Amino acid sequence: MGEKKNDMEQKFCQSCGMPLTNEILGTNTDGTLNEDYCIYCYKDGKFAQDMTMEQMIDHCAQFTDEINKQSGQNLTQEQAKDMMRQFFPHLKRWKNRLVMFIAILTYKKPLSEVDNYLSAHREYLAKHYAAGDFIASGPQTPRVGGVIMIKADNREAVDAIIVKDPFHINGIADYQIVEFTPTMFANDSLKSFLQ
Ligand SMILES: [Zn+2]
Repeated sequence: MGEKKNDMEQKFCQSCGMPLTNEILGTNTDGTLNEDYCIYCYKDGKFAQDMTMEQMIDHCAQFTDEINKQSGQNLTQEQAKDMMRQFFPHLKRWKNRLVMFIAILTYKKPLSEVDNYLSAHREYLAKHYAAGDFIASGPQTPRVGGVIMIKADNREAVDAIIVKDPFHINGIADYQIVEFTPTMFANDSLKSFLQ
């Protein structure tokens, strides 16, 4: 991948990373050819598969033998995946991918103790709403913990935010973090908030 250079600059499918030639260009809604994506990834103006970047890497790793044949390398599947993990974040489809996190807090102390830190926790929340980090939050029903929806670029950024929560500092709650790639939205303003 990317080893051989033609006279013209080599183009790659901006979804699966395979070398893009005119014969395998994807198609737009109006039937014209799409210059960014291959026909296996993009057909009639839509992505053929709804995938995360990591799922695409798993999918492409099945074709490691062919990648080796084309590039003259001798990569294992794991090596091919590592290479794709470097390369794919630069492709158009994955570059601006949205990411969102849900933190699920479970109290590990009685509510009487939780309440001692509630106002400090709320101050912490207010600070992060003001900074644009949090999307929504509130207690679980029944009140065994809470939920925070978080906007952040990556898991490391979320961890850095969570360690400052007074509930975390004082051992009040355990945190489970769910990362996902939102692809559908109730309205455009939510989508643009995440961008
Ligand atoms: Zn493709």
